[in-house]
Amino acid sequence: MKQQEATLVLIKPDGMKKSLTGNILTKLSEAKLIIVGAKVVKPTRELAEDHYRHLKDKPFFGEIIDYIQGKKHGHPYDRILAFVYVGDNAIEKVRKIVGATNPEEAEPTSIRGAYGRILTSGIFENVVHASSDSTDAQREIKLWFKPDELVMELYPAKAASANGQPANLWA
Ligand code: ADP
Repeated sequence: MKQQEATLVLIKPDGMKKSLTGNILTKLSEAKLIIVGAKVVKPTRELAEDHYRHLKDKPFFGEIIDYIQGKKHGHPYDRILAFVYVGDNAIEKVRKIVGATNPEEAEPTSIRGAYGRILTSGIFENVVHASSDSTDAQREIKLWFKPDELVMELYPAKAASANGQPANLWA
């Protein structure tokens, strides 16, 4: 059995527009993990580009940046629900429930298989993001969440101050 792991899950703007939040959280609850962070985010271009930086040389990079920023879905769906799940083998368990990147190749009962689609432009609108390995999970969790936004100390943090108030930053 693998050790306790943390993983980032994002409900992307198409998931918000299709009103799938409840269905997705119910599906993910099958993994019997715990949620240690949750928030709604309107991603800046900088955050979106940093999140997908491993794809920056792909021809579809610009489109997935627009997609994750909600530019394809518009107000009020130009936002994301972000979660950090923790538990045994969390990364693999969540990826299995989420399904393959291409919704047509994803298991029909997975979230992406059930709710994803391929746009005529070729972009996979696949409803959710889930970290693919522990290196990505750590990088992504630190990108989307501040230490004080998690109810568990997942990674070392350092004391700092923001607007004169004490705050923590990732070390
Ligand atoms: P995953 O989200 O499964 O970890 P990637 O990080 O490779 O996959 O891709 C990020 C997102 O970019 C995907 O979730 C999907 O929305 C889109 N995408 C990835 N590969 C393609 C592709 N070949 N064609 C169209 N869209 C893609």
